[in-house]
Amino acid sequence: MPMKHYRKELWFHVPSRMAFMNITAQVDECLSESGVREGLVLVNAMHITASVFINDDERGLHHDYEVWLEKLAPYEPTGQYRHNVGEKNADAHMKRQIMGREVVVAITSGRLDLGPWEQIFYGEFDGRRKKRVLVKIIGE
Ligand code: ZN
Repeated sequence: MPMKHYRKELWFHVPSRMAFMNITAQVDECLSESGVREGLVLVNAMHITASVFINDDERGLHHDYEVWLEKLAPYEPTGQYRHNVGEKNADAHMKRQIMGREVVVAITSGRLDLGPWEQIFYGEFDGRRKKRVLVKIIGE
């Protein structure tokens, strides 16, 4: 059977500076469109101040992430970062580094082969503008 391949960009416009969005359903939709039954899906943020990661869809946890990330890389004072010349998003670059760029999920029998509580998230750290996530699917 020849290998199938599929590519789609998902666009997001988060109204706040930082937020987490569950994008599992959108990735699932891509998988349906691709027609791939066995293979791999790569989902990556196309911006250096946003992440794609897998974890639990639990509000308390997402709040805890925000507090933890703000401790590790506080937004303010913005003058503490050398990157912040002309822009003020050094903290967002660091938050992205911690939360990661991409995830790869196995596709088995036409479904995302996730663990019982695993969900795919878009992590925004410098929002209030349009940003993209790439979905690439390969398989048969
Ligand atoms: Zn920057």
